Amino acid sequence: MKPDIKSFSREELSKQFEAWSEPDYRLAQLLNWLYLKRATTWEAMSNMPKVLREQLRQCYQLAVLETARKQGARDETQKFLWRLPDNAFIESVLIPANPALYSEASDRHTLCVSTQVGCAYGCKFCASGLNGWKRNLEPFEIVEQVMAVERWLHEDKSAGAPDPPEAGRQIHNLVIMGMGEPLANYDALMKALRILNAPWGGGIGARKITISTSGLAPQIRRLAEEPEQFRLAISLHGATDLTRSRIMPVNRRYPLAQLISACEGYLDKKGKMISFEYILIAGVNDGLDQVEPLAALARRLHAKVNLIPYNRVEGLEWTRPEPAAQEAFLEKLKQYRIPATLRREKGGDIDAACGQLRLRTEKELAVTAQKGT
Ligand code: SF4
Repeated sequence: MKPDIKSFSREELSKQFEAWSEPDYRLAQLLNWLYLKRATTWEAMSNMPKVLREQLRQCYQLAVLETARKQGARDETQKFLWRLPDNAFIESVLIPANPALYSEASDRHTLCVSTQVGCAYGCKFCASGLNGWKRNLEPFEIVEQVMAVERWLHEDKSAGAPDPPEAGRQIHNLVIMGMGEPLANYDALMKALRILNAPWGGGIGARKITISTSGLAPQIRRLAEEPEQFRLAISLHGATDLTRSRIMPVNRRYPLAQLISACEGYLDKKGKMISFEYILIAGVNDGLDQVEPLAALARRLHAKVNLIPYNRVEGLEWTRPEPAAQEAFLEKLKQYRIPATLRREKGGDIDAACGQLRLRTEKELAVTAQKGT
């Protein structure tokens, strides 16, 4: 199978163009078609010679994600279920007009993307890990989630006020928080993020990109050595080893002491770029006794805390705490002077908890297949 063109850096493509004796401006044209105009076919690249387009077609695939399903919530959060060429499903979630969630208040569109099909980390509350890990995504499959949603946004807008496709970026913040453990697919993730961050590529600033992890301490140390200023979100969900290990098996491998020490290394290299994600689950981690240790960890890392009421996952026992319990947790955290937000998770009515739409679609397909046999 041919490699996909959107898995290659400018440098790599430049070598290929040199070998073909093509001038540099031709490469600039190609990148423009791929990342600014978000072309879906070689034929569309009309200002490039036919011979060159044919050469490209023979060497590279130009894959476009197929929308298997799309759900839009009342608050306009959109969830996309993509079908990959091997019939695997992944999800992306678009959260519009989401002030100060992961960056400055002027944010317009935040996109949450997946990095793996399924997940091997088995957090007890999460739909993505329910059927285990299937495979890592290739760089182009991460990049293309952004391009495909931008295409959709453009088409959606065009109904009212037509925009040329190249009218600037549509995605302003990227959160790597969808299906999968991003740092377990480290090399592909970094390659994809460099393409999405590059001025010739996605043009999304590194500080507008938040990488989430369930706590892979060695990879956090590795990430700290990278030149880019990516933000880091730790999916904490428990402020003591006892609570965290109960719901996140990864904590047995990298207990809090190791995780926080790796984060301190990140803090030293990058400055205040860390936040904690803390899903509030009734009777598990929402006790006020968790607030003091949580505040202590946040203070050590100068981290902001994002509290997220749990979104129910079909087949799992967990529930979200009552609103009063959520507020009490937030208030106590604020008493410790920790910057914190309580998020009424947008998209709660569209299976927004990561992995749920995929799970439901796979179940439906299995039922249909059974009926057919
Ligand atoms: S929360 Fe993240 S790391 Fe844990 S199982 Fe779900 S996708 Fe994997």
